[in-house]
Amino acid sequence: MDHRNSFGSLVDRNPQNKVMKEKIVILGAGESGSGTALLAKKQGFEVFISDQGTIPQQTKSLFDRLEVEWEEKIHTPAKMQDAKYIMKSPGIPSNSPLIESLKASKIPVLSEIEFASKFTHATLIGITGSNGKTTTAMMTYQILRDAGFDVALAGNIGNSFAKEVAQKDRQFYVLEISSFQLDDIVNFAPHIGVITNITPDHLDRYNYDFLQYLKSKLNINKNQTYRDFLLFNGEDPKLKTAIQSINTDATLHEFGFQNKKMNSTYTENDHIVIETQKTKTMINTMEFSLQGRHNLLNALAASTVARLLEVSKESIRESLLHFQGAPHRLEPVLKIQNISYINDSKATNVNAVYFALESMSAPTVWIVGGVDKGNDYEMLYPLVREKVKAIICLGVDNQKIIEAFQPITDLMVETQSMKEAVLMAKKIAEKNDNVLLSPACASFDLFKNYEDRGNQFKQAVREL
Ligand code: ADP
Repeated sequence: MDHRNSFGSLVDRNPQNKVMKEKIVILGAGESGSGTALLAKKQGFEVFISDQGTIPQQTKSLFDRLEVEWEEKIHTPAKMQDAKYIMKSPGIPSNSPLIESLKASKIPVLSEIEFASKFTHATLIGITGSNGKTTTAMMTYQILRDAGFDVALAGNIGNSFAKEVAQKDRQFYVLEISSFQLDDIVNFAPHIGVITNITPDHLDRYNYDFLQYLKSKLNINKNQTYRDFLLFNGEDPKLKTAIQSINTDATLHEFGFQNKKMNSTYTENDHIVIETQKTKTMINTMEFSLQGRHNLLNALAASTVARLLEVSKESIRESLLHFQGAPHRLEPVLKIQNISYINDSKATNVNAVYFALESMSAPTVWIVGGVDKGNDYEMLYPLVREKVKAIICLGVDNQKIIEAFQPITDLMVETQSMKEAVLMAKKIAEKNDNVLLSPACASFDLFKNYEDRGNQFKQAVREL
């Protein structure tokens, strides 16, 4: 069997001329970890998986079926020293003592997208940014799929990239990529990279240093060449400045509401206008189902990707017409006694909340709180003054939110469960008001994850 790939030879020969498989150690047994195990096994690696937490039974059964060795509730460094590569799941911080010691022993630490990209010749579209990744990735995928491309959607959304490559290699992948995945790339290079925007998020993982976080997002361009494209929001001042400082051969293409020029995408009279070196395309946006200015930005990015891949404007318009937003992103739940309940549980940072509040067209009872990720709430003050009639804090520790908003809010209430928060919101809201769950924080203090938080919200609303 030929085990060669772009890492070089996958089979080493020991002095006795016995074939020894190369070993990959996978840290973390979540979606990235199990996808990597599947792909690595298929590619002939010896695999060892180590997870400091408990591995779900189903995942253990998968590992046993694959005949890979695993451990849980512990990391045993002695079992890692002979690894050729370490795959670090995105959830594990780069500065954890284990990672630092592995790096010190010169074993390459890779992310899953780096590993997976070695085993496919597909054209990659990589979408990163602080907000809008999922929505933009879903839109892009839908447009390409509707246009008949052999394409899969992977990464932070649905299956891991590695799992998709292991199961069925495609001609195109649309990848939603977090900054953590980008931290550990070596050669990974998307043909089209998209940066939706950059606002402070996950600063706890970047020593509270915005520049470090920004740098990791810009890694999407690290290995791009003159054949590739980097799309970015040209009206995001910090992002724009950062892009101006990079040295790249890739074609830079801006998108934004008003960026009228060559290599840019903008809006004009109910149209999306895409200007590339080769063509100028105008797509009518009338009757689009998605609401909110931020979703129009996402559509600018997605339709630009599609045009660069030569999808027709009719096909792009048709796909966007039917695009339904993803759940937990400004998702309308119910209207009860003329009060609209809106689930924006995925708004885990201040910028996402900004767009949510901006799109509120009625007085709003705002449910906010959870685990703070280094938030600075100041940019919300004007919108809160203008649109928010009451704030319901929902978190174990609400102190920071209370301090930030008490001076500008008439009514603030603390709650400790979703049920309590929704009941309180119902009490406060009047006819024609909105009740908006848009937490600006992570969910782990009271919920399993943002989906659990959003589902509990929807359940509590249905029970009203
Ligand atoms: P991500 O995958 O980057 O977290 P999502 O598409 O899941 O992005 O959206 C996360 C949150 O950000 C939701 O509250 C959504 O309404 C909001 N959002 C979506 N697109 C944008 C955008 N372009 N700019 C700002 N906020 C956005």
